[in-house]
Amino acid sequence: MRSSWRVEREELARWAAWRSANRQQRDVAGDRTCRVASVAPRRRAARRATTMSDQRTTSPRSNVRRVLEESGAVHGGDDVALREALALLSTADAENKRKNRKLYLLLDLDETLIVAKNLEKEPSHVPVGKPIVVQGRSTLRFDLIERPGLQHFLREVSKLFVVFMYTMGDEAYVRAVLDVIDPHGKNFAGGIACWKESEGRHHKYIERVVCDRSMALVVDDMMDYWTEDMPNFILTRRFVGDHADDGLMLLYGQLKAVHEAYFKAAAAAATDEPPAVPRVLAEMRGAVFGGCTIAFTGVVLDQTEETLVSQPLCKLVRLFGGDVTLDVDRATHLVARQKEGWRGAAKIRKAIARMAQDPSFVCVWDHWLWDSLAAWKAQPTDDYALPTSDADEAPAVAAASALPPSVTQRDDSPPAARSEPSDAAGRKRPREAAADNSEPAVYRSMGAVSAYLKGKQASSGAGE
Ligand SMILES: [Mg+2]
Repeated sequence: MRSSWRVEREELARWAAWRSANRQQRDVAGDRTCRVASVAPRRRAARRATTMSDQRTTSPRSNVRRVLEESGAVHGGDDVALREALALLSTADAENKRKNRKLYLLLDLDETLIVAKNLEKEPSHVPVGKPIVVQGRSTLRFDLIERPGLQHFLREVSKLFVVFMYTMGDEAYVRAVLDVIDPHGKNFAGGIACWKESEGRHHKYIERVVCDRSMALVVDDMMDYWTEDMPNFILTRRFVGDHADDGLMLLYGQLKAVHEAYFKAAAAAATDEPPAVPRVLAEMRGAVFGGCTIAFTGVVLDQTEETLVSQPLCKLVRLFGGDVTLDVDRATHLVARQKEGWRGAAKIRKAIARMAQDPSFVCVWDHWLWDSLAAWKAQPTDDYALPTSDADEAPAVAAASALPPSVTQRDDSPPAARSEPSDAAGRKRPREAAADNSEPAVYRSMGAVSAYLKGKQASSGAGE
């Protein structure tokens, strides 16, 4: 019996026929899925209103759909045939990538690879990066700051992965950014998926880039978009423009380790069943939160037994070996987000009372969780501890400069300005997770919180 992952011979033959008929492809299983469109015959390209630049920011899925439609393999609106064709393509491509020791990597853009400061919205910002101009419904100017080591990072990960960019920024914004970070079109060989009217604004999903999810890794500073893909997900610390940021160095080490573990497992496999990235990732994450039962306040909205099962952060905590609970009395840790009036929150009052009785009980700010998830290592809780009395509060705030960089620099405000359809060229949708965040005192003193957060602060409660 043939193994399940091998492509059936007749299916490959079908695909070969499509390739041959179109004469567009140098290699369907090659690195550049998006080149399917870019190498289309000139006469066909000339008829299209789109330019090469347009095609570059058209998602791989859209490009493949167009080629399949042009080849006659599927017809407009035939979703069943398209799904079958995409599955076939993904399978064939995955087999090729395994032979070439490559996996797939989906990279977010904003606050993962770069940060772009909207100079209209932040007039006091002193530019420190490279200027970009986004021509949309209006003209917007940004100061684009690359995350330290970005070019080296992209070069190195491209040796191990087929790299896709997947961003909620719109096309005009993404093109302007690409002109700076990837002027020769070499860094995102898989293709680029940016925000489109036809796509949801609250959801990212692996299938959009046309790849085998069992070989895919996702990197983003926001987990809430990736509801179904937590097993493939790697959280990166949010980049806010700091020149001492080492997030890409940390990330590269993790990606390289996963790549090595995957192909080591593939070589050692007793059968021809290939390993799966989620399984490899689970083994590497280990039990970072082993023995931890975490309760939240101000971090997870609308907490119910049901949301604790489905909410991405809760899923991720479980994937790291921990558990989550609604009940502070059952918890080993209370993870809190600092808001106005946080001392009055019921869970925090209960937690502080419990700490007096139970020294093993831990009460920490949410940065402890983000940093532990990003580092794949539980961070020392002392650095993130809530002050347990009024007298402790002032020293705790004053000590902010001694906290780890990711703590003092984290800013949950939305990115400066991208593009949003209803907006005049350029704003990305607000982050749901940040929607009710109020301003931590450590940020207030640094003047690093946007007007967005301040506006929302008034409407946010003091937690459950
Ligand atoms: Mg982001």
